[in-house]
Amino acid sequence: MEITIIAETQGNQLHAVTRQLVGAASSLGVSPTILCAGGVGADEASGISGVGKVLSVNGDCFSTFDGGAWATAFDAAAGEGVIMGAATAQGRDVVSRIAARRNIPVVQDVVTLSDGLNMTHPIYSGKAMQDVTISGSCGITLRANTFSPAGDGGSAESATVQQSGDVKIAVKEAIAKASERLDVSDADIIISGGRGMGNPENFDKLYSIAEGVGAAVGASRAAVDAWDPIPHSMQVGQTGKTVNPSLYIAVGISGAIQHLAGMRTSKYIVAINKDPEAPIFKVADYGIVSTWEEALPILASEIAKLQ
Ligand SMILES: Cc1cc2nc3c(=O)[nH]c(=O)nc-3n(C[C@H](O)[C@H](O)[C@H](O)COP(=O)(O)OP(=O)(O)OC[C@H]3O[C@@H](n4cnc5c(N)ncnc54)[C@H](O)[C@@H]3O)c2cc1C
Repeated sequence: MEITIIAETQGNQLHAVTRQLVGAASSLGVSPTILCAGGVGADEASGISGVGKVLSVNGDCFSTFDGGAWATAFDAAAGEGVIMGAATAQGRDVVSRIAARRNIPVVQDVVTLSDGLNMTHPIYSGKAMQDVTISGSCGITLRANTFSPAGDGGSAESATVQQSGDVKIAVKEAIAKASERLDVSDADIIISGGRGMGNPENFDKLYSIAEGVGAAVGASRAAVDAWDPIPHSMQVGQTGKTVNPSLYIAVGISGAIQHLAGMRTSKYIVAINKDPEAPIFKVADYGIVSTWEEALPILASEIAKLQ
């Protein structure tokens, strides 16, 4: 079972209930992914024991609370399975909206939770308690101070998905983070294009960026199959090459499992895709929701600064 927690925050840090959500997920034997609105609390979240992954979801919508906009942003970033939040006004709002978008059940204000998703929660304004068992995906909110909090001692990997309209900032941040994480002076870099490049001539944009930094250009199978000028030798994936560069930049690639098979062990993955729900964002360390037409010119100048 996969559990994604919507972090509850207070000011610029995590609310204590977020640790209780992690504690509840851990009691089911699950290492949850935590989504942090605008990256708030992400550093603390990655240090919580039992957390599997922390995803900072950045975007213009996070400057003030708007349940609809937050749910849209989180829905695109969250995995399948259980979407878990706190039973606060904000948590209830966001989790129920995500559940509605996914057409899955939602159980609010859960006070007991055990294996197999057996839950107890109040109904009729708390006049009765109902036992519920759900098999499959659902949204649940947990009552604060009911579950034991998880402690410190974790070191979960963290990643960022940028849903911001300001692509310039997103690209700059992606490359800045890559250079923080990697020794970019001798980083090996691959920039790959997919069917989203539109036509083979547009690969010239990738070649010119690559040339400047000594990078290689790769491609998805869809691009190789569709366009003769893109040779099979460029194909990355299950039936192409397996690569393991320091920095892999996927442009207009959806992130099909067969493509991921060839590149997911890259040390730092940046993805540019106009579809916020593209699966490539699940493996990317930094995802930029944008067309390549907008992002590549900025990427060209930022990546040139790497060397
Ligand atoms: C047995 C088998 C083996 C396979 N082996 C491989 C393999 O080795 N490698 C491989 O790659 N695939 C392989 N595939 C194919 C794989 O399943 C996918 O079909 C393929 O990876 C899809 O390529 P794509 O992401 O480029 O295209 P699509 O799935 O068509 O995705 C294009 C993406 O571009 C985005 N996009 C469109 N326009 C823009 C724009 N202007 N700006 C930004 N983004 C845009 C879209 O949102 C979309 O996500 C294999 C399949 C099978 C069955």
